[in-house]
Amino acid sequence: EILQPTAMLDETEKQEEGLRPGRLADYIGQKDLKAVLEIAIEAAKGRGETMDHLLLYGPPGLGKTTMSLILATEMGSSCKITSAPALERPRDIVGILMSLKPGDIIFIDEIHRLSRMTEELLYPAMEDFRLDITIGKGQTAKTRSLPLPPFTLVGATTRVGSLSSPLRDRFGLIQRLRFYELDELILIVQRTAELLQAPVTPDGAEEIARRSRGTPRIANRLLKRVRDFAQVKKLGEITQPVAVEALEVFGVDPMGLDWADRLMLGVMIEQFNGGPVGLEAIAAATGEDSQTIEDVYEPYLLQIGYLHRTPRGRVATPNARKHLGYE
Ligand code: ATP
Repeated sequence: EILQPTAMLDETEKQEEGLRPGRLADYIGQKDLKAVLEIAIEAAKGRGETMDHLLLYGPPGLGKTTMSLILATEMGSSCKITSAPALERPRDIVGILMSLKPGDIIFIDEIHRLSRMTEELLYPAMEDFRLDITIGKGQTAKTRSLPLPPFTLVGATTRVGSLSSPLRDRFGLIQRLRFYELDELILIVQRTAELLQAPVTPDGAEEIARRSRGTPRIANRLLKRVRDFAQVKKLGEITQPVAVEALEVFGVDPMGLDWADRLMLGVMIEQFNGGPVGLEAIAAATGEDSQTIEDVYEPYLLQIGYLHRTPRGRVATPNARKHLGYE
């Protein structure tokens, strides 16, 4: 669980709010994204308009929510955070749209999961800042159009391919978030350590960063667990040996894999001779949900070259075999 890039609902994770960088200049990494947004912000501000609607996609925990909050700060407006599952009924989105103030940002997480009715309400809202609502039923039904203040919609998704094209086409900016490089993750660990007042040496920060699967949320979480370990064992500052010892205890290996990744690769190698093997077969053999495998485990294993996707299924690579100690 400690390596899940999705947010956990425990107390420590609630402190996450305080760890988010507040301005674009403090947002580490994602150089391309920042460059695009810097221009979009400045241009919109120069014209006195709101920024174009923005779609952010990429694996969980890479900083989509954080970026949306930063945009609001940079634009001098506020950000309403919600997610598609919370917008099940049309009246949920109507409530949010009706309470908008000019320039506000609405952040919708998991936007690929919007219900059809909610999505259809969003089309005229995004395009013309207009809310079309139908009052009454059957022959007496009437459609009324209400003007909305200009706003920016920031949509976030892990599966950009699952968005309907009318919705995707209404975003002026579509940007991908990438896994973070090691040097960027080291900076993130050091920044968070400073905020948490947890002394960490450069090699200690590097060890944590190396095992963080390219994901800031995981980096912050591992740092907190290592800090607890160092405190309870009275080990003082977080050095490399302390980080190694602590992360071994939590079952996080030197490449940042946990038992679930190792199980998945192990099953592929032992039961399917390394593949190609279909996603459903892997899911059945490991007892994991196929969507979780696709959205959560796979992206990082693909990134580090332990897994390949071929038209005939997934293949465990020689590097994965070597890492797991197979001949
Ligand atoms: P999800 O897809 O699950 O909504 P997310 O991509 O929106 O996740 P965030 O909640 O924005 O991820 O980020 C997770 C944590 O990682 C935040 O608490 C923040 O502290 C940290 N973080 C994310 N991006 C950065 C960054 N570029 N620099 C420093 N810290 C970051």
